[in-house]
Amino acid sequence: MNFYCMTLFPEMMEQAMNTSILKRAMEKDILRFQAFNIRDYTKDKHCKVDDYTYGGGAGMLMQAQPVYDTFQAVKEKIQKPVRCIYVTPQGAVFNQDMAQEFAAEEDLVFLCGHYEGIDERVLEEIVTDYVSIGDYVLTGGELPALVMMDAIARLVPGVLGKEESFMTESFTDGLLEYPQYSRPEEWMGKKVPEVLLSGHHANIEKWRYEQSVERTRQRRPDLYQRKFGP
Ligand code: SAM
Repeated sequence: MNFYCMTLFPEMMEQAMNTSILKRAMEKDILRFQAFNIRDYTKDKHCKVDDYTYGGGAGMLMQAQPVYDTFQAVKEKIQKPVRCIYVTPQGAVFNQDMAQEFAAEEDLVFLCGHYEGIDERVLEEIVTDYVSIGDYVLTGGELPALVMMDAIARLVPGVLGKEESFMTESFTDGLLEYPQYSRPEEWMGKKVPEVLLSGHHANIEKWRYEQSVERTRQRRPDLYQRKFGP
């Protein structure tokens, strides 16, 4: 899978991508990441990429030209139609189903805004998906794009090792994951549930499912209702 990011802060993204599991996946060539610095594509002689908004109002807006030209450079590299995700608080809220859907793509382009956002006209030209990471406003799109790439990448076959499988994780089946325990068997007077030490696989599976259901009911009643009805 190839991720391309259009950003004003490529180093921030490169540093985050070059860490831990994603770094390992890139070393194995399962994942590729390339940041395109929007500032490199401005035609402004002072390298400006933002300007005042028409109609007044505080703050600066990223201009259409540098963003559009950056996207042309990305498209030249990919050489086929591609989804371009603008990360924005005005988008649909990202979730595991979306991560699954995006993980099926071979290439994905992320557009990271800054300041007050981006001139609407270039968004109309290049963006296929408007996606948010939640109902709050951040200073820039780099963290949201990194959040999404992380969630998507770990669903790409081969990115996670066997020991890091996502099959039983929260949201995979519309439920939160069951509680988990590691050594020692007793810590601060708290014991690991007996059934997990029994070696009886069917009972362990049953216990885990029941715990998943109960945890979801308590912590995420919205998910519980979606799965089991009101
Ligand atoms: N003026 C914009 C508005 O009210 O919708 C907010 C602009 S925000 C300060 C700057 C950039 O951060 C956005 O263009 C977007 O790329 C990114 N951003 C901020 N919050 C976000 C969120 N919750 N999800 C995704 N991207 C976000």
